[in-house]
Amino acid sequence: MYAELRSPNIHEPENLTSYTNIIQGYKDTVPFLWAGGTEIMSEEDFYPADRGSLEVVSLTRIEELHHFLRNDRYAEFGAMVPINDIAQAGKLVLPRILLDTINSTATRTVRERITIGGSLCTKRFKTSLSSTLMILDAAVELRYLKKRMHSKWFQLSRIYDKNGRLEIPQGALLSKVRIAIQQYDYQYFRAAGNPMSDPSGACSMALVARLEQSGISYARIIFTLPDKGFCYNRELDNLISGLHLPVSISAYSQLEDYVMEYIKNNLTQPSALQEARLKGIFHDMIKDINEKVLCLTG
Ligand SMILES: Cc1cc2nc3c(=O)[nH]c(=O)nc-3n(C[C@H](O)[C@H](O)[C@H](O)COP(=O)(O)OP(=O)(O)OC[C@H]3O[C@@H](n4cnc5c(N)ncnc54)[C@H](O)[C@@H]3O)c2cc1C
Repeated sequence: MYAELRSPNIHEPENLTSYTNIIQGYKDTVPFLWAGGTEIMSEEDFYPADRGSLEVVSLTRIEELHHFLRNDRYAEFGAMVPINDIAQAGKLVLPRILLDTINSTATRTVRERITIGGSLCTKRFKTSLSSTLMILDAAVELRYLKKRMHSKWFQLSRIYDKNGRLEIPQGALLSKVRIAIQQYDYQYFRAAGNPMSDPSGACSMALVARLEQSGISYARIIFTLPDKGFCYNRELDNLISGLHLPVSISAYSQLEDYVMEYIKNNLTQPSALQEARLKGIFHDMIKDINEKVLCLTG
């Protein structure tokens, strides 16, 4: 049987001005943005060109989206900077947890394709990089059409709903990401499972904290289930911030029950494998923090 194959229209603007002109030329359709293509190309039904009527804007050649700027307080990356380059450029200054998160993502070759903008705008699943940037209070610049093209900075938490679903105006371009240059006394990131081949078994956890002699004075913690979203809330931060160190066995078991219950009530029921892995990661983190505190206090 003959099946009609149509090609999508592809635009390749070279700067933000021609990007804006292209977008403004569309009245009823919203063109589809293409960054590294790693999420798009791994969609089951993407080939052959089933979506022949699709209008694609490739972001690859937009010069401004490849810029990188740094001062004493923050680093700013254009959306098309590959995450591998961020890890290389920021090796000495960016929070260690960010480098750990990037280095745990896929392989080096794939990381050279994955862009920071694409990592924050995936729709089918949540990346662990978006979660880590949430607890680091990163900010993003969005460009969106509303009669004319607007560009505005938002805290990352403002572009997701409470479960991590992307909530930006349709067709909006995330153009820059700003990350504060600061380190924390304690940074912990662990991921388990493969979010691409087995998203319902994969999960990750990220925590940054400031430690006092006998307790934690500040903490931010986030759990990610790639197929479901992320669980982040000030209530969990406060719970961890109030901990006395080292954490005793009885306090630990109460804490673990509370955290797992919290994830179930505020995100969703994790799969059995995700639950077992989350418990393992959380347990290892508490053990690690206890060891650190015991070393410090002798
Ligand atoms: C082999 C493999 C292994 C992987 N392993 C991991 C892993 O271990 N952990 C993990 O978290 N993830 C993993 N991923 C997922 C990966 O993180 C995502 O595929 C990636 O973040 C998408 O980035 P991209 O630049 O390729 O975006 P694309 O695939 O080009 O785009 C993704 C989505 O974002 C939109 N978009 C892209 N850029 C912008 C922008 N600037 N503004 C607005 N919208 C935009 C696109 O329209 C599309 O909907 C893996 C992927 C692959 C292929």
